[in-house]
Amino acid sequence: MRDSLVKRFESIVGKGNLFSEREVLYAYSYDAAVVPQTIPELVIRPMDPEAASKVIRVCNEEDIPITVRGSGTNLSGGAVPSPGGIVILTNALNRILELNEADLYAVVEPGVITAKFASLVESKGLFYPPDPGSQSVSTLGGNVAENAGGLRGLKYGVTKDYVMGLELFDAEGNPIKTGSRTVKCVTGYNLSGLITGSEGTLGFIYKIILKLLPYPRHRKAMVVYYDDVMKASITVSEIIGARILPCTLEFMDNFTIRAVEAYSKAGLPTDAAALLLIEVDGHPSQVEEDSLTIEALCRRNGALQIKVAGDQRERDRVWEARRGALSALAKLRPTVILEDATVPRSRIPDMVKEVQTIAKRHQLLIGTFGHAGDGNLHPTILTDKRDREEWKRVEKAIEEIFEAALALGGTLSGEHGIGIAKSKYLEKETNRYTLLYSQKIKRALDPKSIFNPGKVLYE
Ligand SMILES: Cc1cc2nc3c(=O)[nH]c(=O)nc-3n(C[C@H](O)[C@H](O)[C@H](O)COP(=O)(O)OP(=O)(O)OC[C@H]3O[C@@H](n4cnc5c(N)ncnc54)[C@H](O)[C@@H]3O)c2cc1C
Repeated sequence: MRDSLVKRFESIVGKGNLFSEREVLYAYSYDAAVVPQTIPELVIRPMDPEAASKVIRVCNEEDIPITVRGSGTNLSGGAVPSPGGIVILTNALNRILELNEADLYAVVEPGVITAKFASLVESKGLFYPPDPGSQSVSTLGGNVAENAGGLRGLKYGVTKDYVMGLELFDAEGNPIKTGSRTVKCVTGYNLSGLITGSEGTLGFIYKIILKLLPYPRHRKAMVVYYDDVMKASITVSEIIGARILPCTLEFMDNFTIRAVEAYSKAGLPTDAAALLLIEVDGHPSQVEEDSLTIEALCRRNGALQIKVAGDQRERDRVWEARRGALSALAKLRPTVILEDATVPRSRIPDMVKEVQTIAKRHQLLIGTFGHAGDGNLHPTILTDKRDREEWKRVEKAIEEIFEAALALGGTLSGEHGIGIAKSKYLEKETNRYTLLYSQKIKRALDPKSIFNPGKVLYE
């Protein structure tokens, strides 16, 4: 990057907030997805939103691509810099600006860590439900940009269901305001809806208004083991069929159980073919009634064992083990690819079967776990990208997983986004006109394509 440009950025954010050392640039050249790395020209850390706006203005004048970065846990390559571009970090924009207990909302900056926010909210007797598996490190800005889901999506929805309003900078660095602090707001276009899930391609989010709920009065958690994957999958469909909405309904196959147990020593039986993690919450009497019905359904479907968590510690241990599933699997082979093709929940048994068939056909190790209650499974392929022959089989398997999900009426991505990894498949789920329509929006709002070019839309 030209010295004069570096100087301009330096005059905005100060020398200590510009990073150009090779090792640092390398550290920001990738995220959690298996996609090619790109080394940025510069990494910039604005200490306040105004500085971010000025940096964006310079980038727009000089045609410099910007990739905003929260914690870089993205699983579709969206946080990987664009060639010739810079990275703007949000980690210094990490203040909780307001927590309004009367009107049940909070106003936060984008760099706030999800779990920290959720536990602060909880300490006030309130509830922020979106809980991605990465919540201990992911940022709320990253969650909004990806429309992240989590373990409670089935009952409580995903990030978009909690975004009441946003403030963002457009490509010229001008402030844009969407939504409001009110429960209802239909003033103008639903721009919060457009920006949420836009993967850093339409603006820089610097303020977020999030809806809060009262904390559920009671909860009950159980782990249910099966000797057959199908029995577990069918139980999932039957629980929903019984008109019960657990807040969590997670699935793990045997391969994942063994990996998780070796990693976390949570006491999971490694000979079970599958397990379900189930939690119901709400009014105490409803929770008791629902959990009894669920236990009966599990038994009717041949559950080997049902372990109801005796206390919070026991529950947390198993839930932490589930959150560590990806890390546990990632230890087994050099390359791990976590997919999130999603199907209508009633088609879970078919999707599980499809993934097993694909694994067998291509002789690959695929562990499956995920948010079974909302149809969002995570078939996780363990491989070694350096093995070219195996990699070809992996690519074929990924395509077949997408095709299977689409054939079952599902979607390419339930929560990880399109980024670079899936942009070439987008047309398969939508059509050419939908892509053109999206491209027109992108061009109108960001004519020079400075915000995360090459992500979502294949350019
Ligand atoms: C172990 C693990 C478990 C995970 N579990 C889940 C899960 O259960 N559910 C789920 O949905 N995802 C999950 N993910 C994926 C990932 O954590 C989420 O997508 C998360 O929302 C990303 O947050 P981040 O702060 O890391 O954002 P980053 O990865 O840094 O960025 C994500 C995208 O958002 C953009 N962005 C970030 N901040 C801003 C901003 N302020 N303005 C504009 N654009 C911005 C970036 O440019 C990028 O395109 C998981 C990832 C890992 C590694």
